[in-house]
Order: sequence, then C-alpha cells, then structure tokens
Amino acid sequence: MEDDLEEQKVAGHRGKGFVKSTPAGNKSKPVASEVRKSVEPGFTGSPDGWFDDAAFKKGLIADFTHKEGGDYYFESYSNFYIHEEMLKDKVRTESYRNAIEGNPEAFKDKIVLDIGCGTGVLSIFAARAGAKHVYGIDNADIVHYAREIVKVNGFQDTITIIQGKVEEIALPVEKVDIIISEWMGYFLLYESMMDTVLYARDKWLNKGGLILPDRCIMKVAAIEDEDYKNKKLHFWDNVYGINMSCLAAAAFVEPIVDSVNHEAIVSTVDSFIEFDLNTIKVADLEYATKYSVKMKREDAIHGIVTWFDIVFGGMKNEIRFSTGPFGEYTHWKQTVFYFDGSYDVGRGDILEGSIACKKSKDNFRACDIKVSFHYIPPPDCGVEPHSQVLQYKLR
Ligand code: SAH
Repeated sequence: MEDDLEEQKVAGHRGKGFVKSTPAGNKSKPVASEVRKSVEPGFTGSPDGWFDDAAFKKGLIADFTHKEGGDYYFESYSNFYIHEEMLKDKVRTESYRNAIEGNPEAFKDKIVLDIGCGTGVLSIFAARAGAKHVYGIDNADIVHYAREIVKVNGFQDTITIIQGKVEEIALPVEKVDIIISEWMGYFLLYESMMDTVLYARDKWLNKGGLILPDRCIMKVAAIEDEDYKNKKLHFWDNVYGINMSCLAAAAFVEPIVDSVNHEAIVSTVDSFIEFDLNTIKVADLEYATKYSVKMKREDAIHGIVTWFDIVFGGMKNEIRFSTGPFGEYTHWKQTVFYFDGSYDVGRGDILEGSIACKKSKDNFRACDIKVSFHYIPPPDCGVEPHSQVLQYKLR
C-alpha cells in the first residue's frame, strides 16, 4: 500500500483517468487462472501432500491437536494457552510460590504430591523449598512438557511426573506428607476438581499431613450494575435490525463471570460458606446456605456478586489471596447473578436469602445454582418487602 502511494506520488497524482462503472453484482471476480498458484516444491499437487505431520511433531514434545472423541476437560488442559493464562495470573502463582517457598521448614525432606501438576510449576516450587521427593500427576498431555521442564531445571532426581487420572494411577509410595494443588474453578467449585483433591487426601495423605491450600471462603455482596445489565438485556432487541429478544432470557440463566469494579458494591460483604479442606467430604460440596447483606448507601441494586478467598495455613507463614473486587485481578474474576429487575435501596436496607449449589445431573463438572433474594426495607417506610427465587447454570 505504501509502495503504491509512493509510486503515485512519482506519477504525479494522475489517478486512473476514465473508469467505466461496473453494474452492481457484476464486479470482476478473480478467475482461477489469475490466482497466483505456487509452484514451489511442497506447495503443489494434492492438498494431502502439503502438510507434513511427522515434521510438524518433530519440533514439539507433545502434539496438542484435539482428537475427535477425546475427553474435552483434559483436552482443554492439554492446550498450551490455558497454562500460559494461569501462570501469568500473578496473584495466583505468586501466592502459591510464597506459600510453598516461603515455608521451607514445612517442606524440608517431605514427600509431596502435586495434584494436577500441569507445567510442573508447583512441583518445582516444592522441590526448591526442600522437599525430599515430589510426585506430580496430570492426565493432560501437558505432562510431556512438565517432564522436560523438570529436567531442564535440574530436578529430575527430585520430581517424578506421572500421566493419568488421579483416580486411576498407582503411586510409587504409600503415603505423602503434603498435598499441593491448584484446583479452583469459577465460583470455586466449577469443574469439580476439588473432588479429585479430596480423593487423593483420603487415599494418600499421612495423618496430620498438610493440604494446601487448606481453607476457601466464599463471599457475596449486592451490586449496582444498570449499564452492563441493560446492555446485555437490550442487545437482543435489535441485532442488525433483527428482533432476537427471545435470547435475552437465555443470557440471564447463566451467571456472568467478569470483573466487577469495587465501586459497584453497594452493600456489606457476607461469607456464605467456608470449606476446610482438612475435614470436608465430597458430599459437603453440594450445599444450601444463608446470606445477608446490609446496604451502605442509597442506590439501585441489580444482582449479587460472589467470589472466593484462599488460605494456605497450618505453617509458619500463612498466605492468603482474594479473587474479589477489592483485590488485584485474577483469571477467576467474579461471578455475578442478576435478579429480575432492580431494587431502589436506602442505607441500612437488607438483602438476604439462600444460595444452593449442586453438580448438574447431565454434566458433573457444571453447577446448578439456586438463589433466593429477599429485599427487606425498614418497616413503615412505605416500601414493601419483595422476594424472588431464581435458578442458574454455570456450564
Ligand atoms: N498445577 C498447575 C496446573 C493447574 S490446572 C498450575 O498451577 O499451573 C489443573 C490441572 O489439573 C490441569 O492440568 C488438569 O489436567 C489436571 N487435572 C484435573 N483433574 C485431574 C484428574 N482427575 N487427574 C489428573 N489430572 C487432573
């Protein structure tokens, strides 16, 4: 393009002179003979001969191409980008590093199990913290890279990477002293990987052993979110002149995973459930608990936002991080549940109700979530209380 302009300048801005108009629909199309076919060796003949799979795989430790009929969950973790995103989440990865490498007395000479090791990052933190041996397990193809990373960094004698499902593999040792894992999903429990961590705990963790992280606290607050909610709702009214408003309801049955500005928080924050990984059972992951928040200012509220905080305790230096709107960005963002309409609230008004979460029947990695919203203004203020109960699916 720039070359063309240069040429035009030299030619003295003549343009093209007379151009005959082409009738609409009859614009000149390139004919096959005008396509500049390559005659370079390797680019001619039948398409089957163009791509050399063996040569492609040669430069790679594992081929991440999705195979038809594979397990979608593990295939997604076989993809390189998902690991890049997690590693670049500084709040997440630095918290794990600080919890592990900041507590060398807890790790010294210990046998460590890394559940879902991915690239092997946590296994290497544990080895650097002085572990005697680390077993990293993952079912995804990323393990081929984990092994190479372990070797290149000189930990091949301390870290053993095992490919397979945690529920199916055999460990070379009977018990371990510490379990580390980064298993958290959106809304904490999405993906149901905590089940796997509890399975490993019950099978392999020594009595009195450490499980890291060991506490998760889920929190909730009411938010003002008119602009975003309206945009989401009314987008479907007129899509390139087409009324698609029947899709608006579908957009609201899924909670929205996105970053919420802390200024949108109108109420106090309530913890609606806390999990202690030392003692919790898989059955406890399906829960129905109460919440109650109090408005801190006059505003309109459109829904609730939820998030979780993570604690690495039981060691000399406790480490915590939050995935909430008051902390730094994490890839978990927050999870927003819109209710129907909005409430004009005053300072001191209450929003309370229940939050129930269970695994979906048709996909155990998805969550069925039911929330009740009871808006309670002060008595005798002329505004009636109002209630609604809504169901959502995180899938
Ligand atoms: N520990 C890494 C990766 C965390 S992502 C890091 O912190 O960066 C979670 C990993 O757990 C994924 O790679 C996934 O493939 C693995 N995983 C989940 N469930 C598993 C199971 N049941 N058996 C084996 N690996 C599992």
